[in-house]
Amino acid sequence: MHPTEWIKQRSPQLIQDLFAFLSFPSVSAQTQHRPDLKATAQWLKAYLEKLGFWVELWGEPPIVHAYRAGPSGAPTALFYGHYDVQPPEPLELWHSPPFSPRIADECIYARGASDDKGQVFIHLAAWQYLIERYGDLPLSIHAVIEGEEETGSETLYGMLRQHGKAWQSDVVVVSDTAFFAEGVPTLTVGLRGLVYTEITVRGPQRDLHSGSFGGVAPNPALALATLLARLKSEDGRIQIPGFYDRVRAPDEKQRRLWRRLPATDEHYQRLMGVSALSGEVGFAPIERISIRPTLDVNGLLSGYTGEGAKTIIPAQATAKVSMRLVPDQDPQAIWESFRQYISQLAPAGVEVEVRLLHEPAPAFETPTDSPYYQAAEQALTEAFGSVPIPVREGGSIPILSHLQRAVGHPPVILMGFGLPTDAVHSPNECFRLRQLWGGLHATIRFYESLSGRKNAT
Ligand SMILES: [Zn+2]
Repeated sequence: MHPTEWIKQRSPQLIQDLFAFLSFPSVSAQTQHRPDLKATAQWLKAYLEKLGFWVELWGEPPIVHAYRAGPSGAPTALFYGHYDVQPPEPLELWHSPPFSPRIADECIYARGASDDKGQVFIHLAAWQYLIERYGDLPLSIHAVIEGEEETGSETLYGMLRQHGKAWQSDVVVVSDTAFFAEGVPTLTVGLRGLVYTEITVRGPQRDLHSGSFGGVAPNPALALATLLARLKSEDGRIQIPGFYDRVRAPDEKQRRLWRRLPATDEHYQRLMGVSALSGEVGFAPIERISIRPTLDVNGLLSGYTGEGAKTIIPAQATAKVSMRLVPDQDPQAIWESFRQYISQLAPAGVEVEVRLLHEPAPAFETPTDSPYYQAAEQALTEAFGSVPIPVREGGSIPILSHLQRAVGHPPVILMGFGLPTDAVHSPNECFRLRQLWGGLHATIRFYESLSGRKNAT
């Protein structure tokens, strides 16, 4: 049966199953949701066992690792996804409860609908199709679905060290990215790396009366602000010595492809709701979020932040600062230069401490000339009606390069079906039905193509 016909017949049941998956409040950042993470992993285990997979739960929160062998000689694909979600807060901005999925305006609304449960579910459904269609999986599948992606994948790093070798695969498949825009199919061929740090500035032993000591007391909040302001110049250049040394010059072929995208200043202004863009002078917006590295302040905390006035000079100030890296920047070297630069900037009278908040991750890229990329390209072309454009995304999936290395360094296909308008990590996250069903169609074709059963009807 043709995938579109099968999808049409099965969609009520598939929606019901997906809704069950979305109903678990599997928030990895909040400890009160530990039992919910476990319950979600159990649900996945049962679902995969019903599909004939051998399944184990590993660690805490549990990683769901499932395996089903295909015919001998068939290739092995490793699918990676995550069942944990971002906290849904602020709840008052949701139009309906985040863990009571509903369909409105051709969209599924729920926390995790797009990132990443909806996209994980696409693969569960594709395997179901393949097993029904061929009586067996036409290729071997490892599924690794973790519950800690949003908080740093610590358990998975451990599991990969112990068991990764046993999961040697021909290709890694991930659906946790998005199209450039609706109607513009996209395959992600690069992700930026990430170095995430925290800077703490300490001054007086305690908060001081700003009248009695203002004029002589070193102010950590002001010291931190001054220090942060020196990280970037007015034209958006990052000031850390050597920061750009290994950044590649833009590839002209890639630049030409990108000109086909509606990636104007106005496009990004609309997406963000701002009146002007910031960033490095001399590069187009799409270049600034993909092939150029960045530095951002992700959080700032100091002094009195409650209601009304309190006249103090704070004892301490903290900032979270992260850098997104591009090929071939070395995350460890960048971290070292960052730390050195910050210590040079520390003004007299305060103490500055810098630390890493998680393991630095390098940028990631995937070649477009592999048969796996071409299989994905054909699958998306069939399902969405036009040839996907290879893009580099600004975000990071830090675990990916480790995963790739652990399973024998196969190509990684980032075949994501989200849209930039899905509001991932924000209130009212949604996943368009067109993306769900088109994604399922493409994923079925992709697996068929890997197994050599190309375009069977
Ligand atoms: Zn995700």
